[in-house]
Amino acid sequence: SSTTREWQALDRAHYLHPFTDHQALGEEGSRVITRAEGVYIHDSEGRRLLDGMAGLWCVNLGYGRRELAEVAAEQLRELPYYNSFFKTTHPPAVRLAEKLCALAPDHVNRVFFTGSGSEANDTALRMVRHYWALKGKPRKQVVIARDNAYHGSTVAGMSLGGMAPMQGQGGPGVPGIVHVPQPYWFGEGRERTPAAFGRECAAALEAKILELGEENVAAFIAEPVQGAGGAIIPPDSYWPEVRAVLARYDILLVVDEVICGFGRLGEWFGSQHYGLQPDLMPIAKGLSSGYLPIGGVLVSDRVAETLIEAGGEFFHGFTYSGHPVCAAVALKNLELLEAEGVVERVRDDLGPYLAERWTRLATHPLVGEARSLGLIGALELVADKASGRRFDKALAVGNLCRDLSLEAGLVMRSVGDTLIISPPLVITRDQIDELVTRARRALDEAARRLTAVDHGPSVGRVS
Ligand code: PMP
Repeated sequence: SSTTREWQALDRAHYLHPFTDHQALGEEGSRVITRAEGVYIHDSEGRRLLDGMAGLWCVNLGYGRRELAEVAAEQLRELPYYNSFFKTTHPPAVRLAEKLCALAPDHVNRVFFTGSGSEANDTALRMVRHYWALKGKPRKQVVIARDNAYHGSTVAGMSLGGMAPMQGQGGPGVPGIVHVPQPYWFGEGRERTPAAFGRECAAALEAKILELGEENVAAFIAEPVQGAGGAIIPPDSYWPEVRAVLARYDILLVVDEVICGFGRLGEWFGSQHYGLQPDLMPIAKGLSSGYLPIGGVLVSDRVAETLIEAGGEFFHGFTYSGHPVCAAVALKNLELLEAEGVVERVRDDLGPYLAERWTRLATHPLVGEARSLGLIGALELVADKASGRRFDKALAVGNLCRDLSLEAGLVMRSVGDTLIISPPLVITRDQIDELVTRARRALDEAARRLTAVDHGPSVGRVS
């Protein structure tokens, strides 16, 4: 319609989008999303799409929850803003802190609030380094992260992350951060059994620690299941081995719960699924189901007590740390997730149901592996099923499938030739069926086009 075209023209003229190749927007420009309800988003042309990505892995409770809108309106009237610096506090932040610590593992009883996941990881980085300085080990400063990780877009987030395109842009990162292999079995480990590969990744971490010297290593940071890096579900052997390595050298564990937290893996925190006892847990996204921006770091007793007793003031914080309106919405979001048994349903019903339906896609000619855990899943696209040979990168088959999936009414994400889903946690079994049907339709169409043009170089250009 003409209104859509007007929005698209304004968008093109003035809006620099995050993570967008503006040259590749094409004639049509951006799709304009105007409203959403439950697990569906609607565009300005009246098309309805099943949101298989929960916004950006955040709308855990689904769209259109009036309770969250009402609590925000009430808090805006009561106290729209105040900070918690210099001996002040306010009820929404205090109550949210209490709720989070009740949900978190027993050894976690404090939270530091931020405005986003990136800020949460920046905070964690500063905290672990400060911790060791307070402990009288000022050399223990190096943080080990993983290849292809995503921990945010600030300079520290970018430095902790391991995504190649990001590293090359915007100048040098934060010193003292190194990377080790990710437990990406389908991508890098298929010559071995998953168990052997998981152990190998843990051994690579240990080798890196020994190379750096344990007296220099402050912390290891990782997501329980790597999200933006490709929905990487580690082999079962991985986390127990990593835990043992970290314990051996007294290295702190920072578990980035920005995606895995708040039910994604069928537990309140992804750490709990793997039996991890993190020293710090950065959180964001699902904390407020994305309705308002808020993040934080859950801090273990070990770190919190040192910060408070040995440290005095930690000279760190943000204007929006514990923002009252965001905190009130986050608290209501947690209360609703709890009251409606959403997390348990993911663990006991929806997760296993998705796994059963989603892994059926493994029989598709384009699919080399279909995996899921809780409500996160991935498909690995292959040119040759028998050998597992990947497509030529220039074909951009992942992007083709993502675009065809949109045409089929489903939002998926592509990372190279890995397709990802991470739907709202309030999805129903019927909607899971619909999601899988639409994904299959997109794959069928992609296969048809790929054979029709005999893998010619133009197939990735479908918009
Ligand atoms: N950590 C992880 C694991 C993430 O996926 C993201 C966002 N995709 C972040 C941190 C950064 O969060 P934010 O975008 O809120 O800064």
